[in-house]
Amino acid sequence: METSHCGFDAEWARLEALDKAHVWHPFTQMQGWRAERPLIIERAEGCYLYDLEGRRYLDGVSSLWVTTHGHRTPELDAALRAQLDKVAHTTLLGLTHAPAIELAAKLVELAPPGLTKVFYSDAGSTAVEVALKMAFQYWRQRTDPRPRKTKFIHLRESYHGDTVGAVSVGGISLFHSLYRPLLFEALAAPEPHCYRCPLRLERATCGMACADELERLLEANADEIAAVIIEPVMMGAAGMLAQPEGYARRVRELCTQYEALLICDEVATGFGRTGWMFACEAEGIAPDLLCVAKGLTGGYLPLAATLATDAIYEAFLGETGEFKTFFHGHTYTGNPLACAVALANLALFEQNNTLERVRAVASHLAERLETLRALPLVGDIRQRGLMAGIELVADRHARTPLPPEWLAGYRVTNRCRDYGVILRPLGNVVVLMPPLAISTAQADELTNVLRVVIAEVGRELLAGGEPG
Ligand SMILES: *Cc1c(COP(=O)(O)O)cnc(C)c1O
Repeated sequence: METSHCGFDAEWARLEALDKAHVWHPFTQMQGWRAERPLIIERAEGCYLYDLEGRRYLDGVSSLWVTTHGHRTPELDAALRAQLDKVAHTTLLGLTHAPAIELAAKLVELAPPGLTKVFYSDAGSTAVEVALKMAFQYWRQRTDPRPRKTKFIHLRESYHGDTVGAVSVGGISLFHSLYRPLLFEALAAPEPHCYRCPLRLERATCGMACADELERLLEANADEIAAVIIEPVMMGAAGMLAQPEGYARRVRELCTQYEALLICDEVATGFGRTGWMFACEAEGIAPDLLCVAKGLTGGYLPLAATLATDAIYEAFLGETGEFKTFFHGHTYTGNPLACAVALANLALFEQNNTLERVRAVASHLAERLETLRALPLVGDIRQRGLMAGIELVADRHARTPLPPEWLAGYRVTNRCRDYGVILRPLGNVVVLMPPLAISTAQADELTNVLRVVIAEVGRELLAGGEPG
C-alpha cells in the first residue's frame, strides 16, 4: 500500500511537470494553473470521474456539457468497438458511409419538422460557422436572390463558440471584446434575462419588451438581415439565462414576418438537456437552421451537425460550373466512429426513456435547489431540465453583484472538489450540468455539497467583506 501510493505520487509529479511544461489549457490563465496542483483524471464510470490516486468525483458538468447516459456506457463502448473493427475514418468528400447516412436519417427524424438535410462538422463552433455561411450564401443563390441580406442579429451576452464567425455573433465582452477588430459586424438585441432585465422592467408587466426591441432591429434592417441566431429556452455560457416562456416562439414569428432565417443554436440545449430532445420543442417551433454538437455522441467523440430545410438546401443546387456549391468542409467531417457512437447514444434515449427520466430527476433537483435559496450568497437559481445556474450575489435583496475579483464562483467550485464534486463556474454563476443519467441520490449529493460549500464561502466572503 505504502509503496504503491509512492508510485502514484511519482506518476502524478511526472505528469504534472510535463503538463506544466507543454500543455496550454483552454480558457485558462496558465500562470495561475502552473502555481497549483492540477487534478489529473484517469478514468470514469457512470456519473463519476476518478483521479490518478483513485479519488472519486461526481461529474457535475458532464465533462463540459457532453455526457448523456454516463461515462463508459456499455452500449456506447460496444458501438465504438464494433465500428473500430470496420473503419476508424473515411471521408465524406467524394465518398459516403453507413454510420453518417443512418445518423443523418435519425437526426432528421428527431429534429423539429422541416429540417431534412444534415451537414456534419466537428464542434459547436463549426456547426455555427456552417449555419452562418449557409444563411449568407442562401440569400445570394435562391431563385429570387436578396444579396443585400448579409447581416446577423444575435442576443447581447450570447455565446455561440470561439471561432471568428461564432465570436462575431457573440456578446460576452470578457471573452469577445479583445477580438472585436477581427470580427464582422452584427446587430445585438437585448437578452431576455428577467433577473437582470437589460431594459430594467419587471416580467409581470413588461409584455416581453425585449422581443419588441428585436422587432425594431428587424424592421429597421429587414433588407439586410440574413438571419437571427438564438439559443432557444436557455442561454448557457451567458450564465444560464432562462428565457420567459414564449420568447423563442416570438422570435420565430418575427423572423418569418421580416423574412430572416432563424438559426437555433442547440449545442448546449440539444439532446435531452432541457427535458425535450430539442429545446425548440418546448416552444413548439422549428428553425431554418439547427446547430447541434455537445450531447450528440453522448460525450464520447467530437461531432457536430447543422440541419437545414429543403428550401435552403435547394438554393445550393446547380451545375458544378455554376459554383453554387457549399464550399465548406472539415477533414474529419462525419467521422464514422463518432457517427456510430452517436447512433448508439440516440438509440439509448428511446430504450432508457431518457427524456422521461430527465424530467423526473430535474423536478427532484428543482426541489433540492430550492433549499439553497435561503443561503446568503444565493441570488437567483435558474433551471431548465438538467441545466441550471446558481447566481451568487453580495446582497440578495438588492441583487448586488459580487466583485469579480473575489472569484466567488471559482471559490465555490474549487472548494467542491474537496467534497468530491466537479463543477465549473461562469463568472459568479455556478453551473450545474450533470449527466442526463444522474440519479436522484446523486442529485442530492450534488446539492448537499453545494449547500455546505456555498455557506462556507459565504461566511468567508461576507463576514470580512473581503476574501481571506
Ligand atoms: C459550447 C457551445 C458552443 C461551442 O461549441 P464547441 O464545441 O466548444 O465549439 C456553441 N454554442 C453553444 C450554445 C455552446 O454551448
